Amino acid sequence: MSLSTKFRVRPEDKVDLDHLDADWKPKGMDRAEAEEKFAQLTTRLQDLQHMMYAEDKRSLLVVLQGRDAAGKDGTIRHVFGPMNPQGCKVTSFKVPSKLEASHDFLWRCHLAAPRRGQVGIFNRSHYEDVLVVRVHDLVPEARWKARYEHINNFERLLADSGTTVLKFMLHIDRDEQLERFRKRIDKPHKNWKISDADYSERRYWDDYTKAFSDVLRRCSRDEAPWFVIPSNRKWARNFAIASIVAETMEGLGMAFPEPTVDMDEIKRMYHEAENAE
Ligand code: AMP
Ligand code: MG
Repeated sequence: MSLSTKFRVRPEDKVDLDHLDADWKPKGMDRAEAEEKFAQLTTRLQDLQHMMYAEDKRSLLVVLQGRDAAGKDGTIRHVFGPMNPQGCKVTSFKVPSKLEASHDFLWRCHLAAPRRGQVGIFNRSHYEDVLVVRVHDLVPEARWKARYEHINNFERLLADSGTTVLKFMLHIDRDEQLERFRKRIDKPHKNWKISDADYSERRYWDDYTKAFSDVLRRCSRDEAPWFVIPSNRKWARNFAIASIVAETMEGLGMAFPEPTVDMDEIKRMYHEAENAE
């Protein structure tokens, strides 16, 4: 079974995050082998992105969500870092600015959606508006409840307009989160990442579980599927996400565009220029 089939959430599936193994590793592969395969995958991803850029016909949107310390930043660095920055745009969504908050919740996300030929990566996304917003009652229930449908319609619009949408929920368990918080304290170069919110949000663990599971059930659609990626092991997470993105991009049937010039004529001109030297 391919990893995209294995980790894909089917429409209306109820994912039980409390009992989902976050420790998964690829079958029959040790870490060294997976890392070697991963290196090949990132090279393949570079080629596929290059083709998407050259083709200038369609785009890819990758949405990353997960609890604090789930590895969203690390995924961007490792999986998408090797891509050419010219065809790739990362957008991190924070607490909405005054301007953003004065628009509808999808406005800032639509603005950041990748244009033709580009890979767009969302570090958090419009899903915050049914996650943190729901958990902390930032808007009345009727408002956030209506958002699932708005989100599905928005993503269908993107898909209909030539954007392939892939959404990854990085799944870590409680122990792993605490362990990562400890590393943020122990390693001086990670101190900057610590925020009070990490600890205050951890107290809402079960509320987030519920909110995530509604997101997965209501918003995983064929045209914009969710994948739940076991992420306790960073190398397994990177391998799984790179595999799914590569497999999806391979499936798009992309091709380099035909030259826009008459190649025989160009060759003739080249020889003329060469002979004139
Ligand atoms: P970080 O990704 O660690 O830089 O943190 C960004 C913070 O912004 C997180 O605590 C998010 O929950 C918060 N955030 C992102 N989008 C929204 C939103 N639409 N409403 C409220 N908070 C948000
Ligand atoms: Mg954070």
